[in-house]
Amino acid sequence: MKRTIFLLGFICFSIINSSAQTFNRQDSLLGSITPERSWWDLKHYKLEVTVDPNTKSLQGSNTIRYRVLKSHDVMQIDLQAPMEIDSIIYRKKSLSFTSEGNAHFIRFTKKQPKDSDEQLTIYFSGKPRVARRPPWDGGFTWQKDTNGKFFIANANQGIGASIWWPNKDHPYDEPDQGVRLSITTPKDLVGVGNGRLVGTDENDNSKTWHWNVSNPINNYGVNINIGDYVHFGETYSGLKGDLDMDYWVLRENEAKARKQFQQTVGMMEAFEHWFGPYPFYEDSFKLVEVPYLGMEHQSSVTYGNNYGNGYLGNDLSGTGWGLKFDFIIIHEAGHEWFANNITNQDVADMWLHEGFTAYSENLYLDYHYGKNAAADYVIGTRRMIQNDRPIIGTYNVRHEGSSDMYYKGANILHTLRQLLEDDERWRAILRGLNKDFYHQTVSSAMVEQYISKASGIDLTEFWEQYLRTTMIPLVEYKVDGNQLSFRYEDIIKGFDMPVIALVNEEEEWIFPTSEWKSKTFSEKIQSVEIKRDFFVNSEKLE
Ligand SMILES: [Zn+2]
Repeated sequence: MKRTIFLLGFICFSIINSSAQTFNRQDSLLGSITPERSWWDLKHYKLEVTVDPNTKSLQGSNTIRYRVLKSHDVMQIDLQAPMEIDSIIYRKKSLSFTSEGNAHFIRFTKKQPKDSDEQLTIYFSGKPRVARRPPWDGGFTWQKDTNGKFFIANANQGIGASIWWPNKDHPYDEPDQGVRLSITTPKDLVGVGNGRLVGTDENDNSKTWHWNVSNPINNYGVNINIGDYVHFGETYSGLKGDLDMDYWVLRENEAKARKQFQQTVGMMEAFEHWFGPYPFYEDSFKLVEVPYLGMEHQSSVTYGNNYGNGYLGNDLSGTGWGLKFDFIIIHEAGHEWFANNITNQDVADMWLHEGFTAYSENLYLDYHYGKNAAADYVIGTRRMIQNDRPIIGTYNVRHEGSSDMYYKGANILHTLRQLLEDDERWRAILRGLNKDFYHQTVSSAMVEQYISKASGIDLTEFWEQYLRTTMIPLVEYKVDGNQLSFRYEDIIKGFDMPVIALVNEEEEWIFPTSEWKSKTFSEKIQSVEIKRDFFVNSEKLE
């Protein structure tokens, strides 16, 4: 059973790619900030989509507003086949474009002037890729509920938002003023998007649902969900005032949802405590039921965990603590702080999303069940760690690091908390990250430097070792009477993280390096153990 759960976790969390990786021109076009992307700064998307469930097709338009940073006349827009661009309209005239795979290059008739605010509209249509294994192998999911009504959603983390709508599909640039999202559905269904419902239109044979996001949003967070939804909600009195919490679930599941979603307030309380105010009060918080496990769509977290605790009923940590909460409510909502508020500039640094959010699971437990429960859980999740590849991937080619970004990420943050030896200070750092990088895209290097500075600990080798190699530091030690000798193996040059050793069950800080060092104790040493909270291996040499 343990093995099954382990495999389940592995399969579910392994995102893409084997270790031997070669990159092609398409990877560079999609994964780098090309000259055709860098000259314009996104301001706003107005995305209108009509969804036809019978033909599994979409038709729509995206009006992109942007500021010209540098005068240029070619713009890169991404849209993945089989979706197609039908036309591009700029100042009432049609623009031509050339395509290189999924990257499309729009040609303006003359260079756009620096500092001007511009907009163009792209009309598109097609049958978007059907998701094979959502949310990991993404696309659209077309299902029916038990009453025979259509139940439709998209999930496209990794593969990219351009799987269904044309946009600047790179995480470094977000629309500063948000997104207006209009979803047209058959009359008997409800379309739910991100942000707030600001209006509906009754058409002859359809209905249009207008949603508004007023904050910057990452592309992969933009989502549409269609079903026979019912709505209920509550108001949470939080750190920035009243927060609207809304729930959209299938009619058949309303009773279950009303019970299971009672956890949401406790989630919000725990995360506001650890990370500071929910980052999108203006846009509200939502849980939306979908026909796949779930995803961190900003201000509309999607949910498909069968209204039960754990991860589809399993405890990823194997300690029992993972059954105290609904994994999808806690984990995906944790991403509102790490992924949606603080977003990676390049997916190579996606551990900023998944490492901090996997770590948030234990902070939720810490808040409600105490420090030991939290430690049990995060240490328990070490069984998911593969050590196959480094946590950080390859930059500029849309390449994510190892799935170890989740629980190795969580465990190095748990180790850092020990190094600080000051939980209030640690909490201030986590809140500081969310305040100082509020609504920004950042690199891992920026976060590494921030934590080094805020903690007063030079973490250069710490980050290098844990994020950029697969080596787990090994503490070797020998006991001779009253004397304990120790050193590190499996480390990079200069790695010298102190750890707590339990010597005769008493806590003692020791400071191993690559060289043997000794420490003499007043009594004969009967037992030695490295405190479990530090993510290191240890071995006694005879
Ligand atoms: Zn996640």
